[in-house]
Amino acid sequence: MSADADDAGDAADVLTLRRLWQQTADVLGSRHEARWICEVATALDGDEFEAALDQPVTERMVQHHDAMVARYRSGEPLQYVLGRWGFRRLDLAVDRRVLIPRPETELVVESVLDLVRDLPHRRIADLGTGSGAIGLALADELPLDGTEIWLSDADGDALDVARANLAGIGRAARNVRVNQGDWFEALPDGDRFDVIVSNPPYVADGSELLDASVREWEPAVALFAGADGLDDYRRIVPGASEHLTTTGSLVLEIGTDQGAAVRSMCLAAGFRTVDVRPDLAGHDRLVIATR
Ligand code: GLN
Repeated sequence: MSADADDAGDAADVLTLRRLWQQTADVLGSRHEARWICEVATALDGDEFEAALDQPVTERMVQHHDAMVARYRSGEPLQYVLGRWGFRRLDLAVDRRVLIPRPETELVVESVLDLVRDLPHRRIADLGTGSGAIGLALADELPLDGTEIWLSDADGDALDVARANLAGIGRAARNVRVNQGDWFEALPDGDRFDVIVSNPPYVADGSELLDASVREWEPAVALFAGADGLDDYRRIVPGASEHLTTTGSLVLEIGTDQGAAVRSMCLAAGFRTVDVRPDLAGHDRLVIATR
């Protein structure tokens, strides 16, 4: 190393945020992903990030940054590396205790909003909430007055993530309750809900279709549901009516090849209308069953 380069204060030696971002983009081949990592490392985003581009980054930021880049390059999903991910209007904490929130699940939220928006009061349960994505997005987007939302999960580790996210949304969480329990066991006896919504595990054990990265990194307990992936629907669908109002609906995310099977289950359980809807890719992704 030359004496010149050693010279403290030499401008070329100063690692600014702009240079860190550029170096990261070169390594990862993506300015977007590099930016997200730099944002989390510096705890800056939006205008604050832009305003700091010519500031030097600290040693601690670089260490955090380098650790994230190493994890990402070893194959860990970016969402877990960052420890947060966007879902509708929320920025959710996510880690390996919960599924990564997916765009198709945003449509589940949209469907529930359509069902309850015009009701004077609405009580909703999000069963198997994981990170809290569905229920907390509903809490965030519905009026505080007249809305009551229950979040449940059988998995206490997942529920810790949901509670952290609940704290993160602040005031909008005043009408949210969290309860640990397996499907309906988490709900209060005798209370009726306008909507019960769930994105349960629905992948067939040993499915060849599942992405290798999902299988390797995401929690098996949130993914797999028996030989045909339908085991949890077999518990949820028949039990739902006794927790729904007389006009209430059950809204379920489903696997693309499960529309017919879940529709039959809902009809057998006495639901009068059952609507199977596609996601943005045109694959069946959602069932809305109404009493
Ligand atoms: N949509 C997820 C996947 O196929 C599965 C989610 C789930 O089982 N609820 O990767």
